[in-house]
Amino acid sequence: MEKINLKGLTLEELEQFVLSIKEKKFRAAQLFAWIYRRNVLSFDVMTDMSKSLREKLENMAYIGQLTASNIQKSTLSETQKFLFQLNDGLFVESVLMVEEKRRTVCLSSQVGCALGCTFCATGTLGFKRNLETWEIIDQFLAIQRLTGVDISNIVIMGMGEPFLNYEAVLKACHLFNHPDGTAIGNRRIVISTSGIIPQIYRFTDEKQPFKLAISLNSPFDNQRSSIMPINKHHPLERLIEAARYYAKKSRQRITFEYVLLKNVNTRQEDADQLKKLLSGIPCKINLIPYNAIPDSNWQPTIEEVEKFYSYFLNFPAVVSIRWSKGQDIQAACGQLAASTGELSV
Ligand code: SF4
Repeated sequence: MEKINLKGLTLEELEQFVLSIKEKKFRAAQLFAWIYRRNVLSFDVMTDMSKSLREKLENMAYIGQLTASNIQKSTLSETQKFLFQLNDGLFVESVLMVEEKRRTVCLSSQVGCALGCTFCATGTLGFKRNLETWEIIDQFLAIQRLTGVDISNIVIMGMGEPFLNYEAVLKACHLFNHPDGTAIGNRRIVISTSGIIPQIYRFTDEKQPFKLAISLNSPFDNQRSSIMPINKHHPLERLIEAARYYAKKSRQRITFEYVLLKNVNTRQEDADQLKKLLSGIPCKINLIPYNAIPDSNWQPTIEEVEKFYSYFLNFPAVVSIRWSKGQDIQAACGQLAASTGELSV
């Protein structure tokens, strides 16, 4: 019989598993806490279970884990970047950012990405496959095991488009949120999409409790399509309509991410159109000075960033500049895999 990977299973699924091996239902809650809260990798250490039960579990199941194949530490900030090898030999990246009270991990949802945004290192790698729920979860747990950091926030903003791996990502988020596991509050979990419109409606209608971020990057269709080809299928007008629907139904603020690309989207007319587009939507705008692909011509100057920011002085939404925390380790996702050629075996 093939062994079952228990990581990635919900409490209810663990209950079905323990019942299927003729054990009492309460064993599922014990397993859940050991796997997600205590973050162990072996049944041996589960001291509240008898030796014979532990041996039985060992014969029938296992607790999946990713292998860290490369870890880079920034010398400029408390940022670390992890390259994890999956069991089929493929690689994904995750980032840990520690700033004052926040200890945030940025997790990947796919190996590579099919959407091909021109400014994104992952986009240049192509798409390999969706991550399974346990592979999303173990990025978090592996970082915790490797660093001992008590992670407080999660952003699903690494390699891949999370809404194109919707079920696995949402299942992972609910597991992260479970009070008997990692217990990350639902408003401390952010899912960032490039704008997959049907999934924004689905996310809204399902009343998902997690925060939504939309990677916008341009307020003009032709410009956005040229840097984010997905815009040709999910154009701005319909995307903003979906964002308004989400804001109205959920009564939650949306975060719009706007990567500042030198001489591309940093003109006053870009700022004016952006303000027009987002007017009336309860939102927050994060301006992110480009830092992804080394030696490209897209890094804006500090003056260009500050000038763009100044166009929003009287805009009612919160607008922040998010300077990269790990320039020296290429902390934007996809760069490590791209630079080492390690997306695949
Ligand atoms: S920015 Fe996001 S959606 Fe676009 S190619 Fe990169 S990973 Fe994919």
